[in-house]
Amino acid sequence: MHDSTKRCTCCVLSENFPKIEFDEKGVCNFCREELYHSTEKSYIDEATRAISEMFEKERGKAEYDAIVCYSGGKDSTLTLKLAVEKYKLKVLSFTLENGFTSPEANKNIERVVAALGIDHITFRPSKKFMRELYKVSSIYEIYNKKTLTRISANCNSCISIVNNTALKYAIEKNIPFILSGFTLGQIPLNAIYYKTNYAFLKESRQSTMDKLTDLLGDDVHKYMGISDRVIEQVKTYPVNINILCLESHTEKEIVDEILPLGWVPPKDVDGCSSNCRLNAFNNYVHETKYGYSPYELELSHLIRKNLLSREEALHKLLDQPMDQIRYAMKDLHIDESQLPRFKVQ
Ligand SMILES: [Zn+2]
Repeated sequence: MHDSTKRCTCCVLSENFPKIEFDEKGVCNFCREELYHSTEKSYIDEATRAISEMFEKERGKAEYDAIVCYSGGKDSTLTLKLAVEKYKLKVLSFTLENGFTSPEANKNIERVVAALGIDHITFRPSKKFMRELYKVSSIYEIYNKKTLTRISANCNSCISIVNNTALKYAIEKNIPFILSGFTLGQIPLNAIYYKTNYAFLKESRQSTMDKLTDLLGDDVHKYMGISDRVIEQVKTYPVNINILCLESHTEKEIVDEILPLGWVPPKDVDGCSSNCRLNAFNNYVHETKYGYSPYELELSHLIRKNLLSREEALHKLLDQPMDQIRYAMKDLHIDESQLPRFKVQ
């Protein structure tokens, strides 16, 4: 394993990560700040209490207590298991089939929902639209730079459709909770749980939606928006919750929890994904455009929490199979020359 990138000596943040500074020992400012003031524990304790109170209050009132956004990856598989077994929620599991799900991940979805005995729905948007969405997200600047420190543009495009579709189902079926499998590092502390506010969401996404509509047409609103007619009738919005943020599992512990459900690690994905065959390409685009991996922040957070070794994190970052990158470029009809190149400032 050869890593030629200059990185923090404690975590894996690299020299091109926005606003990074290294001290004389090579330790980054993010690691130093984390050591001095970590309010994470008290925030998580408070969130744990608030979330179990909300579940207690709403459980059993609607057809489903929660819709769980289920990608088939290891984190959302554990989320689904916890929702059913630990929190005793009646769940509807929901998968967005983006056209790049690993065949093994699809089998995992089937096995896991069968093992848990729950209802499941899949939404498969048009392949043509998804290809075009990924293509423009790769080539143009669609999202703000701060969002892109945590996630690649293509993952963000996909997750926007996941979130929007889950919200539509939740509104339609009066489901009080939307559960997702994000962990801290992928999302900030204040996103562990929050009530959807569609008006605010719409306003904050306006410039993104305008850019996407210019490039892809009005279909964008079908996949990433909700009509005013539906919104006008909403009496109360669901609460979005990421219950995995309340847990502290190593990757091995997560896998050990979900193996009994029939979950098998897919072999045709990169080191940072356990379900998506587009991910290596997404990472490649991000590194080409911005000079660092979209997984550095998340993996560094796990290292600081002692849930992952620096060595394991590096292994994940460097396990980016070229054949998967080429396969995605061919499928999306993108060639190297269309990707903007990162320049050191
Ligand atoms: Zn660091």
